[in-house]
This record gives sequence, structure tokens and C-alpha cells, in this order.
Amino acid sequence: MSQPSFHTDPACVGHHIGGQRPDTGAATRKQDVFNPATGERARQVALAEPADVARAVAAAQAAFPAWADTPPIRRARVLFKFLELLNRHRDTLAAMITSEHGKVFSDAQGEVTRGIEIVEFACGIPQLLKGDYSEQVSTGIDNWTMRQPLGVVAGITPFNFPVMVPCWMFPVALACGNTFVLKPSPIDPSPSLFMARLLKEAGLPDGVFNVVQGDKVAVDALIDHPDVKALSFVGSTPIAHAIYERGAHHGKRVQALGGAKNHMVVMPDADVEAAVDALVGSAYGSAGERCMAISVAVLVGEAGDRIVPLLEKRTRDLKVASGLLPDAEMGPIVSAAALERISGYIADGAASGAKLVVDGRGFKPADAGLAAGFWLGGTLFDHVTPDMRIWREEIFGPVLCCVRVPDMDSALKLVNGHEFGNGVACFTASGHTAREFARRVQAGMVGINVPIPVPMAWQGFGGWKKSLFGDMHAYGEEGVRFYTKQKSVMQRFFADGQAGDGNAFVMPTAK
Ligand code: NAD
Repeated sequence: MSQPSFHTDPACVGHHIGGQRPDTGAATRKQDVFNPATGERARQVALAEPADVARAVAAAQAAFPAWADTPPIRRARVLFKFLELLNRHRDTLAAMITSEHGKVFSDAQGEVTRGIEIVEFACGIPQLLKGDYSEQVSTGIDNWTMRQPLGVVAGITPFNFPVMVPCWMFPVALACGNTFVLKPSPIDPSPSLFMARLLKEAGLPDGVFNVVQGDKVAVDALIDHPDVKALSFVGSTPIAHAIYERGAHHGKRVQALGGAKNHMVVMPDADVEAAVDALVGSAYGSAGERCMAISVAVLVGEAGDRIVPLLEKRTRDLKVASGLLPDAEMGPIVSAAALERISGYIADGAASGAKLVVDGRGFKPADAGLAAGFWLGGTLFDHVTPDMRIWREEIFGPVLCCVRVPDMDSALKLVNGHEFGNGVACFTASGHTAREFARRVQAGMVGINVPIPVPMAWQGFGGWKKSLFGDMHAYGEEGVRFYTKQKSVMQRFFADGQAGDGNAFVMPTAK
């Protein structure tokens, strides 16, 4: 993949502060950005220091009063223009994702589309910001509520969706009248800068949207900065929890979405072909590096013996290749460190007594030119049990663990006993089973014969248990609530000659 042409410095991805691209030559710390398919260093990314973060927050703070004062419909018009540009450049963005993340191009296009849907939702902000009005709450007094922006808000995002996850945050935050500082993952930093360019082209005033590239140093500076009023985080659970605690300590509003271990329960009455298709696609799509990937198949009763042989064949037949090939089903793993971590889990699973049906370690791509890339084949375990690390911990790779259980109650006990509760699915032909499952399962997002139930832009996204710290889900109306604070106004005007209340020392009640 050739170097995306928008980079001001082809060798190093930098920040976007106050509408400007600061010279990356001055950066004291840099990190390599790889092409996971070849294993080669593609470029570097500048890592922000606290002073860079302070400049970005200052730019956002300076831009806030005018942007917050801009009528919502005019803010929406900027987003409409941005939407048009995103649609025009969707394949450029998708190619950028494939080159730095590794996921197959068609999957990257899907990611961009899901991001675009949030921008479409945010374009409806005049309707979403309407308050409530109560006439005559007491004689001559009306009471209404309005929602106002918070100020400067920050987003900290993971490597696995470098376009979609930032789009869960900034379109809604900006539409609500906030200004934004995005700290993307340094593993795939380019799409964030490209979106910053498109926002500028759409007419967004300088300073309203800023990007600081970086690591923990930048994140800590954002959490501790007194002018940052709210933090949206998506990433692994230990970091989500730490950010939630430290942000809350400073009195900030925080939504911190964490890791996952998504189960798919297959009942004996399920359509076997549909269940196998769903398991293969959702376990190995994007190399299992999705927070909604299915990583555990819970096979109920006789479903186990019917499904495992089909899964084995499909796992062996998986087309693992460069994400740029049109027929590739799975690309490389994102980094050498992730490949090592996932391989360690496979060794651990085999040592703990699970049956390693298909071992993806040692996979070699057909194209010898990609031999140094971060490759792993699809991996399938059977007879996994809850005491094993491969069931308890998030592997975040193309490893599917099959657990066999006798009935629905045991399936629910297993799912509900896990510390994560992001997504879950149940495949069944019975409406009653489906309804009971959806009611009793402890997870934030449920699919019935749908393996990856990522809610639509207007519904909101969020898990339960250790998959989300905070009260509000991302995007949708919960997103609007997160990025605004409610103000209640009670008002009366006196008619000519009308007397006031006099000395009123008692708690006022409706008169
Ligand atoms: P990560 O937690 O390593 O990184 C996420 C962000 O935090 C990045 O911007 C990173 O630079 C920053 N960061 C890393 N270490 C930090 C530290 N010590 N202090 C402060 N900031 C730090 O996650 P990742 O590997 O980029 O992404 C994969 C994880 O994200 C998985 O656990 C996955 O389940 C999760 N995820 C969750 C959702 C969800 O909606 N629940 C969505 C996508 C990804």
C-alpha cells in the first residue's frame, strides 16, 4: 500500500492542533507504525508530551465559546458537509485502515460505513437537543429544561477501529457544541489525521477538533487537565478502569468501555449452517480483533457433535491473506507483540487440557513476500472449561473456544458467570428460548440469530459488568446525554401591578 498522500510529513504522523499540523521534527519521542502484512515499518508517529496536550486543550478551550454559541442547525450543516466528504473518501480511509491495522479491505469499508452512520445520526442534533417544557407548574410559572455542552471533551481510542470508534464520540460531541481532543491509538494513527483534515475542509472552525498522537503520557495529561470536562475511552478493561477512577477523582464525567469475552450459545434446534457461518465470520473476521467478536461457542447438548466437525473444516479452509486481496477473509494480526500474546494463549490452552482442534501457529502466507508479516491462522479449541485461562481472559485474536453444556440453564450460568458482559448471541429456532435468553442474560448487547449485535447509531452501544465503567453508553441518545448537561429554568413575569410573594420563608409549592 502506498503512503497516503495527505501526510505533511511522509515519515512521521503528527498532531492536529488549532487547525495546524505542528512540525513532527520537534517530537522528542516517536513510535514505529508497521504494515502488519509485511512486518515492515511504514512510518513513525510522534508521541505527545504534556506540553502538546496543553496546547491542544488550550486551542479547544479558545474555540469553545463561539462553537457552543453556534446554533445547532449550523453545527449540523458542518457535519452534513463532513458526511459528504467521508462518503467521497470512504475507500481512502478504508485503505488506510487496512495498511496500518491489517483487516481486509471489505471489512475496513464496513468499519467506515458504521462510523458514517454516527455522523448521519449527529446531523439530526437540532431535534435531539430539544428540551422539555411544562407550562403553569405554579400559577404564572413555567418550567423547562435545556441541554448545554460541557466544554472541552476528550476521546481516547483503541487500535482495532481507528475510524469507527472515534466516530462513536466526536460527531455527537461536536454536534452538541463541545470542542474535542482525540488521542487515537499510536498503532494506526493515520485515519484520525485524515478525518481532522476532512472536518477542516467541511468548514469546522480551527480548534474545535484536535488530535494528539501519543501514549500514556498524553492520556494522563488529558485526564489531569482541569479544562477537560469529560473523557470517553474505549480499550482494554484495566486501562478503562484506571481512567474511570482517575477521571472520577478529578470530578470529570467518564464513560470507559473495556474488554470483552463474547459468547454465542447454539441450541440443539438452531439452524446448523447459519450457526457455523456466524461463528466462523464473527470469530475470525478482523482476526478476532473486535470487541464484539465471538470468542466462545457454547454448544448445547447434541449441537456440539454436529457443529465442531463443520467448524474444523471451515477453520482449516479460512482464506488468510493480505487484506488487499479481494477474496481474503482474514488478514494479519496487528502487531508482533499481539501475535506473541495470542500464540502464548494457544500454548496455554493446549497445556491446560483443552483439545486443540486447529492450531493457527506457524501459518505461512502464500505470498512469500509477506513472510515477515504478523501471521496466524484461525485456531479452534474444543472441550474448554471455565477454569482455563483461555475461557477466563480476553485473547483478542482468531481463537475460538468451544464449551459444551447440557442445557440452556447451564449455558446462561456460564455466560453470566463471566466477568465481561459486552455482547452475546443465541442461535435457536424457538421464540420462547430466545425471549428467555434475552431477558435473563447479563450482557449489554444481545443477538438472537445475529452474531455481532452492534447497535445502530440511534440505539447506543455499551456492555455490562467489566465491559463498561460509567452510566451511559456510547452514541445514540445516551451519547447526547453524556456530552450535555441539563439546565432547568423556572420563570415568571409579573403582570402590571401584580405583587410578588412577599417574604417567603417556606419551601415553595404549587399555588
Ligand atoms: P488499549 O487499552 O491497549 O489502548 C486503548 C487506548 O488507551 C489507546 O489509545 C492507548 O494508546 C491507550 N493506552 C494504552 N495503555 C495505556 C495506559 N497504561 N494508560 C493510559 N492510556 C493507555 O486497547 P487496544 O489494544 O488499543 O484495543 C483493544 C482493546 O480494546 C480490547 O480489550 C478490546 O476489547 C477493547 N475494545 C473495546 C470496545 C468496546 O466497545 N467495549 C471496542 C473496541 C475495543
